[in-house]
Amino acid sequence: MTPARPFVYPIPGSSLHCGKMPLEKLAKRFKTPLYVYSADQIVERFELFSHAFEEIPHLICYSVKANSALGILRLLDKQGAGFDIVSGGELERVLRINRKAAERVVFSGVGKTAPEMDLALKAGIRIFNVESAGELELLSERARRVRRTARIALRVNPDVFAETHPYISTGLREHKFGIDIREARAVYQRARRLPGIQPCGISVHIGSQIRSATPFADAAARVVALAEELRADGIKIDSIDVGGGLGIEYTAGAKFNAKAQAEEYARQLIAALAPLKDITLLLEPGRFLVAQAGALLTSVLYVKKNGEKTFVVTDAAMNDLVRPALYQAHHEILPVVRRQGSRQIAVDVVGPVCESGDFFARDRLLPTAREGDLLAILDAGAYGLSLSSNYNTRMRPAEVLVKGATAKLIRRRETIGDLLAPELSALNIRS
Ligand SMILES: *Cc1c(COP(=O)(O)O)cnc(C)c1O
Repeated sequence: MTPARPFVYPIPGSSLHCGKMPLEKLAKRFKTPLYVYSADQIVERFELFSHAFEEIPHLICYSVKANSALGILRLLDKQGAGFDIVSGGELERVLRINRKAAERVVFSGVGKTAPEMDLALKAGIRIFNVESAGELELLSERARRVRRTARIALRVNPDVFAETHPYISTGLREHKFGIDIREARAVYQRARRLPGIQPCGISVHIGSQIRSATPFADAAARVVALAEELRADGIKIDSIDVGGGLGIEYTAGAKFNAKAQAEEYARQLIAALAPLKDITLLLEPGRFLVAQAGALLTSVLYVKKNGEKTFVVTDAAMNDLVRPALYQAHHEILPVVRRQGSRQIAVDVVGPVCESGDFFARDRLLPTAREGDLLAILDAGAYGLSLSSNYNTRMRPAEVLVKGATAKLIRRRETIGDLLAPELSALNIRS
C-alpha cells in the first residue's frame, strides 16, 4: 500500500521530504511560507480513480475550486481529465491551459451570470449543470443570442443526508443548491421546449469531505429513478453527474487507504447506476485528488509563553490556509528536522494575523520548536491557496510542484506591487 501522503522521512534521522525532494532545500530556494505539491501523487490519485471506474464509460472532471493552480490544471489535462468549474474565472484558467479542454468542462454553480454563460457557450463546454428555473430561462436567452445550443443537466437536490461539516453539506432540501428532485420532472418538461436548450443529463452533488460511499450511492439511486422517468417522457438522458465530495482522513491515527476508498466508492456507484443503459458517468472529485499531495511549509518566527500556554508563531497564517479557522479543521503538523531526544510539549501553532481564530493547531503535542525551525502543515493541497486571501495585506505564498527529484515554481510569491496595483491606478498614485 502506498502511503497516504508523499511527505516522508525517507530514512531514520533524515529530514522531511516531498518524495525525493528535501523540504529544507525548497525553503532555502523559494523561502516560506510555501505551498509544496507532489505531481506524482496527484497523477497517482487520478489513475486510482480512473482505474476504479474503468468498466463503465466515464469522465473525471476535476473540481477546479479545490486547487486552481494552472500548473496543476495542466498536469491533470495531460492525464485526460475534464474540469468542473463554478465561475467564468475558472473557465478562463482551463482555457489558458488548453482551449480544446472546453469540451471536457462541466459548469456548476447557483449564480451563473450572463457574461459567464456567454463565455462558456462560445468556448463550447460539454454541459451546464443548471440550478434553477430562472437560470434555465436566462441560459436559453443567451444561447439564442450567441447562436449556440446549451447542453444541460439539472442539478437536483436529492434530500440525502451526508455526515460532514455543516458548511460543506449541500444535499438537503434546506440547502441553497439544486432543484428539489420532486419538481425536476416538470422543469425538464419546460426545458425541452426552451429554444437553445438541450436537456441531456442529470447532476447531483451532496457535499464535501464525505468518507462513506453510501450517501453517494443513495443519491445516485434517486437520480437513476428520475432518469428512467425522463427517458419514458422522451428526454434523451445520456449522462449522470454524481458530483464530487469523496473525503480523506486528515488525522494521522485514522486508517486511510486511498485505493480501497476509491474502489468502494466506484463499486457502490456502478451498482447504483447498473439499471441504466447507455450512460456516461461524470465525476467531479476535488479534495480526493489533491489534498494529500500538498503541504504548507512555514518557518517558526517566535516561541512565546503566556502563562501556562506555549505559542509557536509561524510565518504562515489563516489568510494562507483558512481551513482550521473556518471549519475547525485538523491538519497534521510535522517538524522538517527532527532533533535527537527533543521533548514533546502541547502548543498552539498560530499565525501573525490579528484574529484569535488565526491558528493551525491548538494544544497539539509537538517536539519543542525553536525560532527558525521549519514546520510542514500537511494535507493542504485542497482548499488551501484557492481559499486564501490577502487579509492583513499579506502577500500570498509561492507554489512549487515537485516531480521526482525536481521542483518547479508554478506561482511566484506575490509582491506588494501585485496587491496595491488596483488601488494605485484608481487613485492615480505613482507606484
Ligand atoms: C466543491 C464541489 C466539488 C468538489 O468537491 P470535493 O469535496 O473537493 O471533491 C464538486 N462538484 C461541485 C458542484 C462542487 O461544488
